[in-house]
Amino acid sequence: MSSDIIVTDSPKSKEVKTTCPYCGVGCGIKATVSNNKIIGIKGDTSHPANLGRLCVKGSSLHETQGQSERILAPVVNGKETSWDAATSHVADTFQAIINEHGPESIAFYLSGQLLTEDYYVANKLMKGFIGSSHVDTNSRLCMASASSAHKRAFGEDLVPGCYEDLEKADVIFMVGSNAAYAHPIVYQRIIKAQEKNPQLKIVVIDPRATATSHTANLHIALKPGTDAYYYNGLLMYLADNNKLDTDFIAKNTEGFEQAINTARTQLDDITAIAVACDVELSLLIESYQLFAENKNVITMFSQGINQSSSGVDKGNAIINCHLASGKIGYEGAGPFSITGQPNAMGGREVGGLSTQIAGHMDYETPGAIDLIQRFWQAPNMTTQQGYKAVDMFQAIDDGKIKAIWIMATNPVVSMPNANAIKNALKKCELVVVSECFENTDTVKCADVVFPAATWGEKHGTVTNSERRITLQQSLLTPPGQVKNDWEIICNVAKKLGYGDAFNYQHPSDIFREHAALSGFENTYSGYKAEKASDNTEAVPQGISRFFDISAYKNITKEEYKNFKPIQWPVNKKNPNGLARLFTDNIFNRKNGKANIISVLGQLPKKTPKADELIMNTGRIRDQWHTMTRTGRTAKLMSHADEPFIQIHPQDAKRHNIADQQIAQLNNLGSTYLGRVQYSDQQRVGEIFTPIHWNDNFSSAARVSALVNPITDAICGQPEFKHSPVKISSFNAVWSGYLIAHKTLTVPTAYWTKVRVGSGVKYILADSKSLPVDESFLKELLPDIDDWVVMKDDKGESLRIAGFKENKLLCFFNASINLDEKYASKFIEEQINQKQSLQNRFKLLAGIDSNAEDIGAIVCSCFQIGENSIKTAIASGSCNTVEELGKQLKCGTNCGSCIPELKAYFPQI
Ligand code: SF4
Repeated sequence: MSSDIIVTDSPKSKEVKTTCPYCGVGCGIKATVSNNKIIGIKGDTSHPANLGRLCVKGSSLHETQGQSERILAPVVNGKETSWDAATSHVADTFQAIINEHGPESIAFYLSGQLLTEDYYVANKLMKGFIGSSHVDTNSRLCMASASSAHKRAFGEDLVPGCYEDLEKADVIFMVGSNAAYAHPIVYQRIIKAQEKNPQLKIVVIDPRATATSHTANLHIALKPGTDAYYYNGLLMYLADNNKLDTDFIAKNTEGFEQAINTARTQLDDITAIAVACDVELSLLIESYQLFAENKNVITMFSQGINQSSSGVDKGNAIINCHLASGKIGYEGAGPFSITGQPNAMGGREVGGLSTQIAGHMDYETPGAIDLIQRFWQAPNMTTQQGYKAVDMFQAIDDGKIKAIWIMATNPVVSMPNANAIKNALKKCELVVVSECFENTDTVKCADVVFPAATWGEKHGTVTNSERRITLQQSLLTPPGQVKNDWEIICNVAKKLGYGDAFNYQHPSDIFREHAALSGFENTYSGYKAEKASDNTEAVPQGISRFFDISAYKNITKEEYKNFKPIQWPVNKKNPNGLARLFTDNIFNRKNGKANIISVLGQLPKKTPKADELIMNTGRIRDQWHTMTRTGRTAKLMSHADEPFIQIHPQDAKRHNIADQQIAQLNNLGSTYLGRVQYSDQQRVGEIFTPIHWNDNFSSAARVSALVNPITDAICGQPEFKHSPVKISSFNAVWSGYLIAHKTLTVPTAYWTKVRVGSGVKYILADSKSLPVDESFLKELLPDIDDWVVMKDDKGESLRIAGFKENKLLCFFNASINLDEKYASKFIEEQINQKQSLQNRFKLLAGIDSNAEDIGAIVCSCFQIGENSIKTAIASGSCNTVEELGKQLKCGTNCGSCIPELKAYFPQI
């Protein structure tokens, strides 16, 4: 590893600017580092994405560090080994498989968590040197629909605007987006903008009522999957009410007539649209008026649009309305796809999807394959698209792919029909996984595990949702034998005989090459031609790409280490980057015109049977993806500590499901167990489940195992938002909790793991009878030799404390009363502590049941529960969120809980 990228080992603290590794907002961070530890995190006020704000996930990053559960050495077939042996093993096995079955029998599955430099070398190795096009990424699950919609409309995968536009808008539509949870800092920018400009209207289009919709001026709770009907209706409304920009349509677009005719052929009446969307006509018209009557309109769209069997069409239906009304290419207007992951856009820049190649081009662009081949001097350049994610794992199952290298992602949790993914990996000859943390569901399937650097150790660039490239700095010396992903890839490339093309010494070497490629024979910067009125070729030569960062093609290592956040393109024409695209109304198509795509509304592919409910999946506020990092801190587990099922009370009654009990969902032969939450925020017939829990954190909560592998025909993105499932109650006969000083293999049918203080808490329920004594715990914790048991005569409740040398190492508390509420804070604080005799009695007496019940945590930063909030409001001393903040401190740090706090004041 290049030692110069390590920032500090010195005891003196140092403040370093870096970037948050979670969502696509891409917030800038100032990290304080001392003694190879991050001791403080705050928002970077100079970073244009967040202007100093951080949500609770970003502001807790320093609490997630540490060596526990890290993978510290390469592992081959279960045995730790050297890097030399591990990379040789992988290269030799790849080569043997290629010799026997051809290069197309090898696949890479990458991640939006990788840095651009990692992504670049992985793509180069596969698509140019190994000669397999089967490189896909978990970004396929996140933004493939938006990417394809951009390409169809604009000729290139281009996000037109920037976050600043949100502050210049008159109306912001948030479609299929619970930004308050999934993109909190963008959401907070919008709310701040509305505070400054009360005329700004916010419209949320989402079947579900969410923290985001609670603060909107208008919530359109449309029927799931009907977004394209809604936007075709808007297109018709604009036409029927003289709100089209006919001049813009004529000069800058093509396809309008066909698109409006297609829309009218399907449903030529706004009333019919309202019926199709199951929305009140007056609400529909009110929202259409807001779009039509205002000049500055932004439509933010996210996973609710993308994760659909017709996500590309939905994206285009949105873009169509902006093009037809000319609301694009200026401040405060335009469609705005908000990316899920920190570097989903960086992955697209280097061709991270199997449908793309490097330099922001794809296989279908004439001359693109030749251009890349010449630039790389690639011996085995691929010439056609590879498998998209769902097809890739199917190809493994079918035996067509013999070896796969998975980097920085956990497909056994995140892919649809996830149990089939697990089974496919078991059949695969060679599964290589580059990971930071042990015990992930995918690591368990690996033949070879490479220990990869994680956030805080890695060094490279990411691109956020507004095209802004920022550096993620290395802050710490990686532990053990951990290496950067780009180094691991290059080492395998060298072993495969491609050393000359992968002889990078530092990520700046890779970035420089990536920047040079972006400008190589790129005609965009010199593109001055007037748009032709017909479809004649207007671009003089080469291949036009708006993605051009050629200003960095000679960047030095020092300049790279001081890289300032900037929005691409960055080239001769735009040396300081470019906030907005299309200000000249020129799009990257042959005739310079945007394409208005004809869209027919389509409902989700699978309709539920009479006894099924539609399962919607999504993110929760304080967790990220499969919890490998956010699950490491007690604070981030306090807002939601169990997998759950939100269900409308009417559905719950129909299916005989009790509130706050465990219920099970079934589909595809898989089961999900979660705590039931009655919620009238759900439409009747629909339920919501979180995506995060997995086998490392719960007994049966990999929700993607219940998602059908149905995909969009154009882009291959799975339909995560609409899976018909069966629900039934889980026949628990007792429930309770177990707190231990270490992680255990818990035998109950339902368990979920929560990190607490210096131990681990398991929330438990079982359909087998309540244990009668401590014998089951003795098996789990044989090192404990001092047990104290307290039980009632009828065997209806049981409390057990386990000590070693007077230290409390384990505490179990359970009862057959399933409604019993357990408050375990006192016990959590006693774990690993020496206990006096008096304290032993207190523990066994269940002292916690007398502790003040603060209720479910709302503010994670200050651990403020909803009972405390309700009490403060009931006392009359708090009539606003600000007054709550003054009295209880809630909402005064990261602000992530403010939407929930606002919900306590519905009159505001
Ligand atoms: Fe990180 Fe939160 Fe910013 Fe997303 S909004 S980048 S999770 S701090």
